[in-house]
Amino acid sequence: MSDQLQRFIFDDTDIRGELSRLDQSYHDSLNTHQYPEVVAQLIGEFLAAVALLSATLKFEGTLTLQARSDGEIPLIMAEATSENDLRAIARGAEDARSNDFKTLLANGQLSITIEPKQGKRYQGIVSLDGANLAECLEGYFQQSEQLSTRIWLSCDHQQAAGMLLQELPASHNINPEQRQQQWQHLTQLADTITAAELLALPFDQILYRLYHQEQVRIFDPTPLQFKCSCSEQRTLSALRTLGQQELTEIIADQGSIEIHCEFCHQHYQFAQPDIDKLFQATVH
Ligand SMILES: [Zn+2]
Repeated sequence: MSDQLQRFIFDDTDIRGELSRLDQSYHDSLNTHQYPEVVAQLIGEFLAAVALLSATLKFEGTLTLQARSDGEIPLIMAEATSENDLRAIARGAEDARSNDFKTLLANGQLSITIEPKQGKRYQGIVSLDGANLAECLEGYFQQSEQLSTRIWLSCDHQQAAGMLLQELPASHNINPEQRQQQWQHLTQLADTITAAELLALPFDQILYRLYHQEQVRIFDPTPLQFKCSCSEQRTLSALRTLGQQELTEIIADQGSIEIHCEFCHQHYQFAQPDIDKLFQATVH
């Protein structure tokens, strides 16, 4: 029951929900990185959140949630693909100790980027001025999508979990007052969930605990897994932008080109024949 995404809807309303929980995929994402506790915890929240967001967006590709700041964590990011492959990283945060979100990510900006397999890249950016990641994401949806959205996130260093409720455009219920009442009722109930319950209870028990008096429809859960999108081919493609001459000079100087993937620690090594082949292949 771990590492899953669970969609649910409330009958006769235009409100949907998602639950995410990560266990093994969280551990695999932390990998052998020696993150301080507060950083590992925030990475869990980023992962739980990016899984929730990827479920709300219809897209084929990669969704990236990234924060940059002047605080103790200069960079933190998590990615989810439409195949529910997750990965995450924090950079430059070796000395992060604060328990305060705003100190960790002072003067920060949060970007949400969708890179579809086909079509245009989309990016939305909001200031990180909420008290926690969930609040910042709620602000993002309010500003950019104009969809009422509430998000609950929790991480205890073993697991990460999240819940999302989102109001959809009027379809089942077009009465604005009733819509508002339904939204308030369902979000107030959701607010009674504790961080511990969100992490520990099976999804059906969470939904029963919150909504046993509501008509909730649940869908088949989707598995989530850690999987890095790096590959030899993609690494070579990235190197291409440096140009054949520069790459040849690096090899002459250092013997080979070595690339380390920060997400999964995969090591790539390229020699002159790899570079020659890379540029041959693209000459038509
Ligand atoms: Zn990798």
